Amino acid sequence: MSPDEFRAHGQRVVEWIAHYWERVETLPVGSRVAPGQVRAALPARPPESGSDRSLDELLGDLDEVVLPGITHWQHPGFMAYFPANASGPSVLGDLLSSGLGVQGMLWATSPACTELEQVMLDWLAELLGLPSAFRNDGPGGGVIQDSSSGSNFVALQAALHKATDGSSITEGVSGRYLVYASSQTHSSVEKAARMAGLGSAAVRTVDVDPTTLAMLPGHLAELLAVDQAAGLVPAMVVATIGTTSTTAIDPVAEIGPLCRAAGVWLHIDAAYAGVAAVCPNLRWINDGVTEYADSYCTDAHKWLLTNFDATAFWVRDRRHLTGALSILPEYLRNEASDSGAVVDYRDWQIELGRRFRALKLWMVIRWYGAQGLRAHIEGHVALAQELAGWVGADEGFEIVAPHPLALVCLRPLWPGCADDEADRLTMSVLESVNRSGAVYLTHTKVAGRTVIRMAIGAPSTTREHVARAWDLIRAEVAARS
Ligand code: PLP
Repeated sequence: MSPDEFRAHGQRVVEWIAHYWERVETLPVGSRVAPGQVRAALPARPPESGSDRSLDELLGDLDEVVLPGITHWQHPGFMAYFPANASGPSVLGDLLSSGLGVQGMLWATSPACTELEQVMLDWLAELLGLPSAFRNDGPGGGVIQDSSSGSNFVALQAALHKATDGSSITEGVSGRYLVYASSQTHSSVEKAARMAGLGSAAVRTVDVDPTTLAMLPGHLAELLAVDQAAGLVPAMVVATIGTTSTTAIDPVAEIGPLCRAAGVWLHIDAAYAGVAAVCPNLRWINDGVTEYADSYCTDAHKWLLTNFDATAFWVRDRRHLTGALSILPEYLRNEASDSGAVVDYRDWQIELGRRFRALKLWMVIRWYGAQGLRAHIEGHVALAQELAGWVGADEGFEIVAPHPLALVCLRPLWPGCADDEADRLTMSVLESVNRSGAVYLTHTKVAGRTVIRMAIGAPSTTREHVARAWDLIRAEVAARS
């Protein structure tokens, strides 16, 4: 494809995306294809010869074959899981990254890729009111990872490096080393323990407060004391700011001193909620982080208008992270790395190669500014609080958990029904609402009971969309009552 052909075809692709965003609301939010339907509509064999008509054909296939198999995460009725924001500036930043085609594994393989990323992570730390210790100009620093799952894993590698005085990289680790996380912690923490070779049995489950669903520091203290007395080694505590089920916020200010006293690495998983701290009135979610967190992650790709993938990950002291992940084959040696004057981000992550993801963050932050980012988060939080007001005022429903951000977890009450039957009815309401095509919701379990999660976070969601979703839920409950 010559640059001229690229110019012409590129305009058509950008037009296709813009048109998609204009009409996404007219499409059913959740994909309705049957398993195997998309595969069956695609040729089983690759084409032998290329064609300059392939873009026309591909755009046709995109409409006919691919779109029906898409669940529209940018649809204003998408309130499932957590959001995965896309935005014009972010897509354009990603396009620039693709166009440059940079592989930024080393500072030397494109200095701007590393240095822009360092500045973006410093900007983001400032925007979120995170500690200056996370900035790249001291012993700490920030990096873009592919996901919070990946960040939880590399945090564990750093924690194990610290707990073993560095021998984890030569000797490996045994199940003597333990990880502590609440019962509400994301499954990626257990997965990290498995991948680290510790096994699931090395993860201690800390109890939560039954009302707030936040970690109980008293129980953590007990577990740490019992394990240390038994000669085991607590390696990492994971506190979550905004749990996946209900956005519970673990009390970092109380957990932190326990970690300090026990010499344990404190990692904060703020995958969804961390970006909310762009609003000064929500910074309380990070209470204790400045004093105690050894590492922290939050996903710009969930709720901060940045396309997947863009997880911001910071450490207070980078030595244990790079100590755990750095390995230097001859073919990567270069003068800049040897000089010690540069950061090579390959030493901060699992993969060697890395894309120029800072470009999309740069576009997003420059386009929206701090004010625009705050308005985006504030708008969703206000909508969720209004929704909670409607649910709270309806005697047929219960709000099952605190909702400080933009997720509301609710449950129809089904008077006279046994728990199993009530849970079945709640699921059937959810399924019917999703079949409407106007809204897409998911569920979770709280205290063993099925609840509906409404996560407001798509950039185009307005009050009307939230009201429509609430009306649909009420209508489906009424039809079963
Ligand atoms: N941690 C928490 C608290 C989450 O809520 C999630 C996903 O929702 C994750 C980790 C995993 O996020 P990612 O998809 O970035 O790995």
